[in-house]
Amino acid sequence: MNTQTTGEGRVSLPLALNWHFEPRCNYRCKFCFAHFADIQKKSDYPIDKLYDELYTRGVRKITFVGGEPMLDRRIDHRITLAAQMGFTTCLVTNGTRVQPRWLESMAGYLHWIGFSIDASCDVLHARMGRGRAGEIKKGYSKHLERSLVSWQAAQDLGYKLKLNTVVTAHNADDDMSELVSHLRPHRWKVFQVLPIEGENNEHWEELEISKRRFDAWVARHRHLGPVVESNDLMTGSYCMLDGKLRFYNNVGGKFLRSAPIPEVGIDTAWRQNASSFNKGTFESRGGIWDWEVTR
Ligand code: SF4
Repeated sequence: MNTQTTGEGRVSLPLALNWHFEPRCNYRCKFCFAHFADIQKKSDYPIDKLYDELYTRGVRKITFVGGEPMLDRRIDHRITLAAQMGFTTCLVTNGTRVQPRWLESMAGYLHWIGFSIDASCDVLHARMGRGRAGEIKKGYSKHLERSLVSWQAAQDLGYKLKLNTVVTAHNADDDMSELVSHLRPHRWKVFQVLPIEGENNEHWEELEISKRRFDAWVARHRHLGPVVESNDLMTGSYCMLDGKLRFYNNVGGKFLRSAPIPEVGIDTAWRQNASSFNKGTFESRGGIWDWEVTR
């Protein structure tokens, strides 16, 4: 356990924060654990105040996550201001709204982009629900097709690119070697599908993958150097903030949340969450890595 507090005063936060500020998503991934069903409205807490509080407590990198962060009307402002205030910025997106013109306008402010691609073909993506709601309803997905276009546009503009892959029973036997050799990501993160109560239980039977099959998937792709996160490494190892500005974490397969920062202040909110954050696991899963970008 790591309490990460300094007495009753100002807390010390981890260097890297994932801000899941956008609860909505246009995709229907069956393994998704970021539905935020209880958030109807995002917090209107001033963003500059929040960033100032985060920075003075030690955060140096903000990853903008959802839901789908590109559905937010103020995403440009969130990213630009963060970069201007000294943070390294990263966006994790399903890629649907990442257009070349937008990428050009964000150059210099957005340092990293993480695209989520789980399989070497869209037949598998469709089985996993990785596609637009309308596509999945009709039984197909064009996720890979779209992602390849966005990826190429970002690569041409010199963005640092991350690839995120979730491994479930559906894609357990897939081989992404050719695809990933072609994409050449700067960092490839691979996650074992994680059960979270109230988020993905309804699909768990079809998604669950044994350790043996997950290890076999990892062995098949080891030559490409993925950063692998098993269920154990994903538990309690992220510093996460949601759209209501509540710190939260996965404890025993459930999310536990602090009170919102606007109600209790950032120090109290973090103290309420700190016992569920494990600094040792954060570091051993590679939570601190060389993310500084010279563009
Ligand atoms: S893209 Fe998929 S995993 Fe990501 S928030 Fe949307 S539904 Fe969830």
